Amino acid sequence: MNSNWRGAVMRHLLLILLASGLLGLVSGQYAWALVLGLGAYLIWHIKQLLRLHQWLRTRQADDAPPEGYGLWGEVFDNIYHLQRRDQRVRGRLQAVIDRVQESTAALRDAVIMLDNEGNLEWWNRAAEQLLGLKTPQDSGQSITNLVRHPRFKEYFEAGHFQEDLELPSPVDDRQRLQMQITRYGNNEHLMFVRDVTRLHQLEQMRKDFIANVSHELRTPLTVIAGYLETLLDNVEDVNPRWLRALQQMQQQGARMQNLLNDLLLLAKLEATDYPSDNQPVAVDLLLLSIKNDAQALSGNRNHRISLEVDAKLRLKGSEAELRSAFSNLVFNAVKYSPNDSEIRIRWWGDEQGGHFSVTDSGIGIEAKHLPRLTERFYRVDSSRASSTGGTGLGLAIVKHVLLRHRARLDITSVPGKGSTFTCQFPEQQLNRRN
Ligand code: ADP
Repeated sequence: MNSNWRGAVMRHLLLILLASGLLGLVSGQYAWALVLGLGAYLIWHIKQLLRLHQWLRTRQADDAPPEGYGLWGEVFDNIYHLQRRDQRVRGRLQAVIDRVQESTAALRDAVIMLDNEGNLEWWNRAAEQLLGLKTPQDSGQSITNLVRHPRFKEYFEAGHFQEDLELPSPVDDRQRLQMQITRYGNNEHLMFVRDVTRLHQLEQMRKDFIANVSHELRTPLTVIAGYLETLLDNVEDVNPRWLRALQQMQQQGARMQNLLNDLLLLAKLEATDYPSDNQPVAVDLLLLSIKNDAQALSGNRNHRISLEVDAKLRLKGSEAELRSAFSNLVFNAVKYSPNDSEIRIRWWGDEQGGHFSVTDSGIGIEAKHLPRLTERFYRVDSSRASSTGGTGLGLAIVKHVLLRHRARLDITSVPGKGSTFTCQFPEQQLNRRN
């Protein structure tokens, strides 16, 4: 209240006191006259208060305040201006929200807001087209009830959203969607869904092309290798000048065959998400046979290969795929470590899951190569590739097999000292026997 209004109130009071004094003078009842005067003043205030209350309760958006007298008039006006200002601010905010909603609604990518339990809060039009969400029926529904693919459920529940997920659309099988989830605020989720059908088709064409070429090359190569073998079997009939050439042809032919086999295996691994087989595999026996093969590969290079396994711990998955992944790691240890060195193969389980590791004391790998090691044809030292006879696809195969078994590959290595390749399997892939 500014001093003006304070003065006005004081004047009112003074006037009432004066009037009461006069009335008292006339009637001789000063006390009653004062009570009467103040009572009238109080009733007037209560009346103004009720008018204010009535106006606040029943007012429409643009209703002007009731006419007020004196201080009450000022109060009515102030409230009215405050409300008008509040309305303007709200209007501006609503306009911003409308614009954001309009622009996200117009996006071709789906945007979905989920609460901290994964229930739908808001989505744009593209989400209706790509995921088949229905407005408003689906509001409050759990996203895993609407996108029912088992891989989505697993991905959402695991809560590791660093990598995107690619899935067929629940609306149309031929459409391929890429999903990206980000957490924000109070553990709410923001989900982006993109149509990547065209990219997927191109990728598929690339895979099919490689698989077809590999397949078509296999037959002629088998014929050539067969003839070379026959020629070399009858080495006494061969002109000695050709002998070395034929031997090299056979060696390179075998390399090409290995390469084609690896390419075909990779194409097969990429064709489906998970292995069709999910039987418990006796890892101890599998590793024993891989160890024997590795010893044979080592031959007179005399590697000392040790094996420590938990025979009670089995692994659910495809034996053939696990054999190729594990043997790639063990054979690499033989290939990339010096004669007479030690190689340690281990299979064990703990609270974190199952672990298979191969440790060698070989040439090791510099840290800068580690992130790219599982790429196809990535080699640390390409000049070494021909001498080891590797295809450059071994670790790519390992990575794919592990992905299909929900596992991951960890590599630690010190150049000149040796490396450890560890496959980490989650509990759900294990079968523990007592
Ligand atoms: P390759 O057929 O050439 O062995 P891989 O995919 O199996 O292909 O391995 C990729 C590269 O990783 C190899 O060329 C090699 O340089 C490196 N590498 C793999 N395993 C080891 C190891 N145990 N020690 C050192 N280097 C390794």
